[in-house]
Amino acid sequence: MAMWSPWRGCHRCSEGCRYCYIHKGDARRGVDTDSIVRSEKLDAPIARKKSGEYRMAGGQLVYLCFQTDFLIEEADAWRGACWDIIRERSDLRFLFLTKRIGRFMDCVPPDWGEGYDNVIVG
Ligand code: SF4
Repeated sequence: MAMWSPWRGCHRCSEGCRYCYIHKGDARRGVDTDSIVRSEKLDAPIARKKSGEYRMAGGQLVYLCFQTDFLIEEADAWRGACWDIIRERSDLRFLFLTKRIGRFMDCVPPDWGEGYDNVIVG
């Protein structure tokens, strides 16, 4: 199991966000959750060791965007790079949860078709 946070921050967008653990944790640390910030480690799944191997070992489940929402509007310009990485790392499975499922078809890549075999959406 691995975590991948290409950006962080989120806005409440539904009743289901009332008890959001991200807002709760950020409030304790004085972090503004409503500020959406791209991570310097956006390409973490394709980062390599000196030996040339991927740092993120294959065959595992990657929890994607558990500090934000993968489909949040502010990340529209960054998501394409994530899809490229997901396509490259077909040896990993990626799981993301969203409360913006209404945006889903506007956010998938052109070759999405019936979906990628290595992506699970909740
Ligand atoms: S969408 Fe998820 S991460 Fe964003 S505010 Fe709602 S519960 Fe929190």
